[in-house]
Amino acid sequence: MDESKDLLLQQGGVCKLCGEMPKKACIDHCHTTKKIRGILCNHCNLAIGHARENIKLLSRMITYVQNNGDLYPVDCLTDESDAGWLH
Ligand SMILES: [Zn+2]
Repeated sequence: MDESKDLLLQQGGVCKLCGEMPKKACIDHCHTTKKIRGILCNHCNLAIGHARENIKLLSRMITYVQNNGDLYPVDCLTDESDAGWLH
């Protein structure tokens, strides 16, 4: 059994984020520590990657969707060292 299937079974056979059974199981790593965080479906794995693993951006995305597009100005993030994704 390959590593991803083994890990998927250990977390109940479903994506660790959305809880759906993944068609394609992706091993999600922390890109800083290289540690495996879990097995995700392709959608959730791509969503984290597309958000550049930026917690502030992910948080803004939640607020954005909840508030139907209303957000605090993006300038609030520019003094952060992790705001490289803005450029
Ligand atoms: Zn998922």
